[in-house]
Amino acid sequence: MATKPDALAVDLPESLWSAAVRTLEGAHTAILVCHVAPDGDALGSMLALARVLRSRGTEVTCTWGDATWVVPPSYRWLPDIDTVVAPSQVPRSDVLVVLDTASRDRLGVLGDLADSARELVVIDHHAHNSGLSGIQLIDPAAAATAVLVEELLRRLAPSIDVETATLLYVGLVTDTGSFQHPVTTPAVHAVAGRLLADGADPSAISRQLWGTRSFGFNTVLGAALSRLRLEEQAADGRGWVWTWTTIDDLATAGLALDEIEPVIDVVRATREADVAAVFKQDGDGSFRVSTRSRGATDVGAVCAALGGGGHKLAAGFTSYDDVDTTAERLRAQLASAPAP
Ligand code: 5GP
Ligand code: MN
Repeated sequence: MATKPDALAVDLPESLWSAAVRTLEGAHTAILVCHVAPDGDALGSMLALARVLRSRGTEVTCTWGDATWVVPPSYRWLPDIDTVVAPSQVPRSDVLVVLDTASRDRLGVLGDLADSARELVVIDHHAHNSGLSGIQLIDPAAAATAVLVEELLRRLAPSIDVETATLLYVGLVTDTGSFQHPVTTPAVHAVAGRLLADGADPSAISRQLWGTRSFGFNTVLGAALSRLRLEEQAADGRGWVWTWTTIDDLATAGLALDEIEPVIDVVRATREADVAAVFKQDGDGSFRVSTRSRGATDVGAVCAALGGGGHKLAAGFTSYDDVDTTAERLRAQLASAPAP
């Protein structure tokens, strides 16, 4: 079905936006939190909101709750990234804003913050956001949390500066896969157009996000591809392609886990398989599993059944089993996976 050209990028009642604006305008101090192992949308949305709140005089702290906390190396070029702090350094504050976080467990070690917050604003676009109360700026149809933040900022500030536009564009372009995923509507391009008008440089941002890879990344990609498995009968005949990376792969290449995110983008292009997965071993030995579907499988439901979650066509979970057992569990879920 064609999307109406005038369809909104976000569709929430104006009263909800007003409530969020009132709460944020009244805050002397605010804590902004995004999900553990933050991606471009989590970081971009959080830092963009922080920048505008700071310009209005609010004292803002940005963080996320990984037990082993690092600023993801592939995002160290983002404007204002040097303002983020470790979860152990979070002060008390008037308002808590939780961004791009579908469930409490995705707050990691900061789960308790949501209980003690005096005022809470939740900004998210995941299909099954649950477990947090407060003002809920949640639209599962939104292409990115950055789209919701853009709407909010247009109500909070008379204009958006280049840095803020850059941060929002990073969220938009990462969560839409460079405007390739089905969430890409005319309204999404309209948001992108506004951000370019505010000074975001799409060419420079794309080069940072996708056009720049270390030699080490290419060696880990090679290791991952050398282990690639194709199971054409899996996922009820739709096909499954998968591989894994180890702590040793990362150590040899001198990489952090977030730097190998693009491996899944290579694997998912495999024509013979609807579902792709990459198991990425973390420092504690567990595997962060990334899954993608080319359109015929609801991998969000599959990953939810395995303790994780995400979107219909892009989702993940953490496995504390070895590679073979992880594959076996995922294979079993895929056999009876629903369509999106
Ligand atoms: P990625 O494979 O890029 O890490 O994640 C794809 C999508 O699934 C993202 O929207 C991410 O937030 C979500 N996701 C990944 N791992 C988990 C998880 O363990 N739990 C939940 N709820 N969502 C996840
Ligand atoms: Mn997102």
